[in-house]
Amino acid sequence: MEPMFSPPLHRQRHHYVIDFVKRNKPLKVVDLGCGECSLLKKLKFHREIELLVGVDINGAKVKKHMHGLAPLSTDYLQPSFDQLRIELYQGSVTQKDVRLRGFDLVTCVELIEHLTLVDVEGFSEVVFGYMTPVTVIVSTPNSEFNPLLPGLTGFRHSDHKFEWTRAEFQSWALKVCLEYSYEVEFTGVGEAPTGQKQSVGYCTQIGVFQRLRGRDSCNVLCGDDAEDVFSYTLLYTVNYPSLRDNNILRRVLVSEVLYWTEKLKTRWMEENTGERDDASTLCHTEGGVEGCLRALERCMEMEETAACGAERKHLMEHCGGAVSEAQEGQDEEVSWTNIQENQESCKLRRCVSVPLAVLWSCCPKIGTLSGSLSNLRHLLMGEPEVKLSQDSSAVLVQVQDLVEEDQADWEDSGYAEASLCSHSAEQEEDWEANV
Ligand code: SAH
Repeated sequence: MEPMFSPPLHRQRHHYVIDFVKRNKPLKVVDLGCGECSLLKKLKFHREIELLVGVDINGAKVKKHMHGLAPLSTDYLQPSFDQLRIELYQGSVTQKDVRLRGFDLVTCVELIEHLTLVDVEGFSEVVFGYMTPVTVIVSTPNSEFNPLLPGLTGFRHSDHKFEWTRAEFQSWALKVCLEYSYEVEFTGVGEAPTGQKQSVGYCTQIGVFQRLRGRDSCNVLCGDDAEDVFSYTLLYTVNYPSLRDNNILRRVLVSEVLYWTEKLKTRWMEENTGERDDASTLCHTEGGVEGCLRALERCMEMEETAACGAERKHLMEHCGGAVSEAQEGQDEEVSWTNIQENQESCKLRRCVSVPLAVLWSCCPKIGTLSGSLSNLRHLLMGEPEVKLSQDSSAVLVQVQDLVEEDQADWEDSGYAEASLCSHSAEQEEDWEANV
């Protein structure tokens, strides 16, 4: 029967709901009779939804398919600013459960025809009288279309308790509207061949119900004093990683900062010395860092809107100038101990300083994540993987030494690892532990 339609009818039903979601942007959505969770698996990509819930009486079916709702690795690696929580319940739509109240959208795709007519009454009271969502989308077979379905005798599915004509569906829908203060519009998917559209209607008929008044005004037990009923069993719940979670925001930011500081360091060294990490001339002082930052800030005021690549090059040239000047008149040397006190004293550590102002203005993602330069500073303070200058205005990136012993210390500190492997698998595991 399905090949009659392109795309297949079940997909057209889900597309109808998805189009509605795109247009109306509901925050809380529940799919009643979610079955194999196929609609939920599509809806989870619409990140304006903050709470996505599925309910089905068949817990085994839900359990078999629920893992397809888990976040993907990209959700952890590139978390969105949007929040999403998914919950799946085993329960009957004829039973009330307080966790299903206050939703923006309830979908019932090919569900009601699986209920006895007595249970349809219970369903109506639970959904329209108790849950009282803003919108309810109900789809069900249109029996007038059945003669056009090749080889069909009886109902379209062995578990169907009834299949309604358009008049029967509309009669039930209008009664519900009257009783629970909703209005309804009728539509459908799966068009009949030309010439028969009017006489048979759509293969699947759809009613879109909109609540007329605030939920306090409905005429059944639905006010705030309604009893808190928990009749459903929670089968699955997951919170998607979100940048609104401060821990996740910090981790992503640190990862970006480490990546960019390393990149800028390498670039600066290549452009200014023609050498790589082992350049012996690159040791510079906190004074140098300050000089560098001052030069950079002046420069930034002048070149606020410069393109990132050109600006970075320019800034790094200024930085180089400031560093050289400071080195010439050097009266103090920075040792790594100034930055990380548990390092061996007396050992000179070499580093390149990358001012936060450069990071913030040159790396769009860092700008977006932090919002402002002072926020960036605030978020990085206290992050053990990021070494800040004494006044917290720059990130200090250690330069790899030629001396073997130093190399060993560097590795022991864990800093090199953190800097160079900022997108490590370990981080992903940490995030998972936090959600
Ligand atoms: N909505 C899904 C599945 C439709 S099949 C889709 O569009 O693909 C109907 C589903 O309703 C089945 O998964 C069945 O287990 C479920 N169901 C039947 N009676 C129910 C009840 N009383 N409460 C909740 N779910 C019910």
